[in-house]
Amino acid sequence: MASHNLAHIKIDKLEIIGYSVAGEETVVAMPQLDVCFDIGRAPGRIIPINNILLTHGHMDHAAGIAYYLSHRNFCGQSPGTIFAPQNLLEPMREIIDAWSRLDGNKVPANLVGVKAGDEYQIKPNLFTRVFPTKHSKGSVGYAVIEKRKKLKPQYAELTGPQIVELKKKGIEIDYPLEIPIVTYLGDTQYVDFSQLKYIVESKILIAECTFYEDEHAERAEAGRHIHINEFAELIEKLQNEHIVITHMTQRTSLQDIRRILKQTLSPEKFEKVILLIPNKPR
Ligand SMILES: [Zn+2]
Ligand SMILES: [Zn+2]
Repeated sequence: MASHNLAHIKIDKLEIIGYSVAGEETVVAMPQLDVCFDIGRAPGRIIPINNILLTHGHMDHAAGIAYYLSHRNFCGQSPGTIFAPQNLLEPMREIIDAWSRLDGNKVPANLVGVKAGDEYQIKPNLFTRVFPTKHSKGSVGYAVIEKRKKLKPQYAELTGPQIVELKKKGIEIDYPLEIPIVTYLGDTQYVDFSQLKYIVESKILIAECTFYEDEHAERAEAGRHIHINEFAELIEKLQNEHIVITHMTQRTSLQDIRRILKQTLSPEKFEKVILLIPNKPR
């Protein structure tokens, strides 16, 4: 029996599996990339994923860390890696130690403290880049970027042996190419993310848009979340092919959220939007 009623989205060959409701729980996994953005209450489906990318320490985003580690240990899996803002590492260690004592079994953990600007390898050609957000102390977002080497255009017509010959002479025949696959903003107030090229060009943007009604603008500001009017402004500056909305408030019905999105966004952007909601309502 699955522990959660998760949303499933498929974009080309990439799956996005998750659950995200403001104040309740947020966990967004991309199994093919082997990453899970935030962990919520650690739904069973995400336990095999090796890289957890935590954006901040709020309970609804981070509560599952000890269960994730303990369950992987129970199943004989490695602890995986939990990336989290540096300032969270000490309290995370304390929680994991406390759970180890409570459980009576040591919970192995591999925690990596991150800060904006850092980059970490996830898979041979896959990296995660950390950028700052404005939500809580040290909060960050993550982009996942594929890095390839591409043949310089002037060598495109060459045969295999000719390329080998050039390589022997020490000539650089290719150049590094970065393909930003996905950017996950986590919780944040409005920030002009268009200043970061890899976010602008990210194929998929997974963004919070918590509040929709005009009278909720103050709530958005107080909780450091994005309101639809700011969201509309933000995505106009970006070029993402797909925009997945997370972290919607329960104060507004899904029906109203859809209606307000349609009214507020340009038709071109509205067409790209997908809500992260379970296919079958609970
Ligand atoms: Zn949240
Ligand atoms: Zn939060």
